[in-house]
Order: sequence, then structure tokens, then C-alpha cells
Amino acid sequence: TLPAYHHRVAAAVHSVGKVPLGIKRKGLRIVVTGGAGFVGSHLVDRLIARGDSVIVVDNFFTGRKENVMHHFGNPRFELIRHDVVEPLLLEVDQIYHLACPASPVHYNPKDLAIVVGIGVLNCAYKTNVVGTLNMLGLAKRVGARFLLTSTSEVYGDPLQHPQKETYWGNVNPIGVRSCYDEGKRTAETLTMDYHRGAGVEVRIARIFNTYGPRMCLDDGRVVSNFVAQALRKEPLTVYGDGKQTRSFQYVSDLVEGLIRLMEGEHVGPFNLGNPGEFTMLELAKVVQETIDPDARIEYRPNTEDDPHKRKPDISRAKELLGWEPKVDLHKGLPLMVSDFRLRIFGDHKEGAT
Ligand code: NAD
Ligand code: UDP
Ligand code: UDP
Repeated sequence: TLPAYHHRVAAAVHSVGKVPLGIKRKGLRIVVTGGAGFVGSHLVDRLIARGDSVIVVDNFFTGRKENVMHHFGNPRFELIRHDVVEPLLLEVDQIYHLACPASPVHYNPKDLAIVVGIGVLNCAYKTNVVGTLNMLGLAKRVGARFLLTSTSEVYGDPLQHPQKETYWGNVNPIGVRSCYDEGKRTAETLTMDYHRGAGVEVRIARIFNTYGPRMCLDDGRVVSNFVAQALRKEPLTVYGDGKQTRSFQYVSDLVEGLIRLMEGEHVGPFNLGNPGEFTMLELAKVVQETIDPDARIEYRPNTEDDPHKRKPDISRAKELLGWEPKVDLHKGLPLMVSDFRLRIFGDHKEGAT
């Protein structure tokens, strides 16, 4: 006989969208760590909408209550302020593990200590390692399925282009970015250890650059920087010569991929990203076209160890998850701009074009 987990998942998954009006499907109990953040909050919206019970675990380091406030009062929603580097006891069916300081301005432990007033050691690396260990321990104890949101950064400054999941990467283990990329590589290792050694059901997603509404306004990532700068009538800061490339994925495509991965039968890793590749100067141009054709460009020195190019090969996700992104940059950017405009200017039309 199948374990209880499989019955619950099968009942829940097969009934999505097929339940006749008036008949309730059996929901899952799902924890989303980092659920008050950008990606997590969109994932939570989808899980709540399909009838599951969701517990968000977040220390609000880069996340915001505002991202999930619309679920307050829903008995199927719970929010716990908790740092995942501390152990946590919960009874759940699935764990989406997203908690991680995910932006470059938070990589530097000294900055991190200043920003949140905590010990220097408590940086991205500790969250990726100890936090992931704790969530795997939880998954093992309660027999939950565990999904890790890893990153395209595990490929480092890639010597293979586009990147396939079989590529082992080119990462500087002692560089300024290593707490993030080596942290995620270790998190992947731990995940596979618990899978092989303790039989935990695991899934690994390698996420490529993602943008959309609710992104942190000032966390230093390129899309949020350019959009906020153009709206505020500030110059767009292009680092280096602007010829480095990234591939930008709209958040709803990512959420669809994460759910398909969790519900599917394959461990992964799976690249989840949009293969549409842009140089930073091309991105700046799309932002100008979307917000302000007069926005100026200002060149700044590039950051250390910046990957020169990045583009996902998504054949594996296409074949095994039946997934591919649907929203291209020209369609997705305006959706993000409306959200940023509202958050920067409130209801006033000041600065709006
Ligand atoms: P985000 O910063 O908006 O969300 C991360 C969330 O984790 C925040 O709510 C933050 O408060 C929380 N958090 C951080 N440390 C924590 C801790 N120790 N305990 C509890 N909560 C903690 O970032 P995001 O873009 O939504 O990223 C979500 C996940 O996706 C991250 O794991 C990130 O590494 C991964 N990812 C994102 C991208 C992207 O382009 N957005 C790309 C690759 C990977
Ligand atoms: N853990 C947790 N919640 C649980 C079970 C475990 O936070 O429900 C933590 C536990 O404190 C430990 C980590 O997960 O630090 C790994 O747990 P595991 O049982 O695999 O390892 P052990 O405790 O045997 O070292
Ligand atoms: N970047 C830029 N201007 C900015 C912020 C970033 O030109 O204001 C560049 C950065 O140097 C990198 C690219 O944009 O080459 C993507 O940076 P981001 O931090 O968004 O993502 P990641 O480097 O993690 O892929």
C-alpha cells in the first residue's frame, strides 16, 4: 500500500481544477520557508488558491508581511516569524524551502551584520547550510516531500553555454559571492545526502534570474534596480560594460515550474528559467521603452566574480515536467512596473509616465 503521503498528494493533485462545485478536495499541509519574500509569496497565493493549508516560516530579513497580509484571517494560512537556522517542529506533507538572503547586497557578512544587527557568521552561507539541514531533518522526521530552491549561481561563471543540469560549474570557493553559490551547492549536496541516506523525497530546482511584482525595491538586483531608477527619474546603473548577459523569467512561470516539480516524480535538478537572453544594455533599453525613453544610463564598476553570461537549457524541464515559460520580458516587465509604481509613489501619479 502507498504511504499516507501519496494518498494525500494523489487526492489533492488529481482534484485540482476537476472538483465539481460544492465538493471539497482534501488539501495538503505545506510549509513555505521564505514565504514572505518575493517568489515565496506568489507560490503561497497559488497553494492557498488551490485549497491547501500553508504555513509560512520567515524571519523577515528581506521578506515583508505586506506580501502575505491578504491571507491574514484565512484559517488555512499561518505565519511564523522564525529563523530557519534554528530547529523547527511542524507536521506537514510538503516543504518548499526558499528561505535565503538571495540578493547580492546581502552577500557580504559585514553588511549583513550591519543591516540586521546579528552576528557576522549568520550570513547566506549559514542559512543555506544550517537552515537547509534543519528543514531536511524536519522532512525526514515527518516523511514530508522537500523541495530546494537552488540557483543558476551553482554554475558560477559558466564555461558551458547555455547551461545544462549536467554541467558542474565554475565557482570561486573563496570569492565574495561564494557564501551564496557555494552555500546553494552545499544545500544541494545535503539534499541528495538525505535523499540517498535517509530516503527523504526531494526535489531540486535551479532557478535563473526571476522578476515580477513584490520584488524587494532596493535589494540591488538588476531588474528591480533599473525599474525603480527609471520610475524615480534616476539614471540606470549599468555595471561594467553592460555586455554581460542574463535570462529573465517572470515569477508566475517560475511558480508553475516549482509546483510541477514538487508534484512530479523526478528529483532533478531542473533548470527553471526563461531562455530569452539579454545583455544588461538590452535590458536597460527594454526598461527605457517601458517606462521612460529619456532615462539616462550611468556606468559603474562591475562587482567581483560577476558571471559573464547565463542562459538556461530547459530541455529537461520541458520533457519531464511538461513545463516551459510563457511570459516574455516585454509582457512581464509592465506587470512589475505597475506594482513598483504603486509602492514607490503610493496612489499619487507623481513621477508616472
Ligand atoms: P527574497 O529575498 O524575496 O525571499 C527570501 C525570503 O527568505 C525572505 O522573505 C527572507 O526574509 C527569508 N529568509 C532569509 N533568511 C531567512 C532565515 N534564515 N530564516 C527564515 N527566513 C529567511 O528572495 P526570492 O527572490 O523570493 O528568493 C527565493 C528563493 O529563490 C531563494 O532561496 C533564492 O536563493 C532562490 N532564487 C531566486 C532567484 C531570483 O532571481 N529571484 C534566482 C535563483 C534562486
Ligand atoms: N530538525 C528540525 N525539525 C525536526 C527534525 C529535525 O529542525 O522536526 C533539525 C534538527 O535539530 C537537526 C537537523 O534538523 O539539527 C537535522 O536533523 P537529523 O535528525 O537529520 O539529524 P541529527 O539531529 O540526528 O543530527
Ligand atoms: N547589474 C547592473 N546594474 C545594477 C545591478 C546589477 O548592471 O544596478 C548587473 C550585474 O553586474 C550582473 C547582472 O546585472 O551582471 C545581474 O545582476 P543581479 O544581481 O540581478 O543577478 P545575478 O548576478 O545574481 O545573476
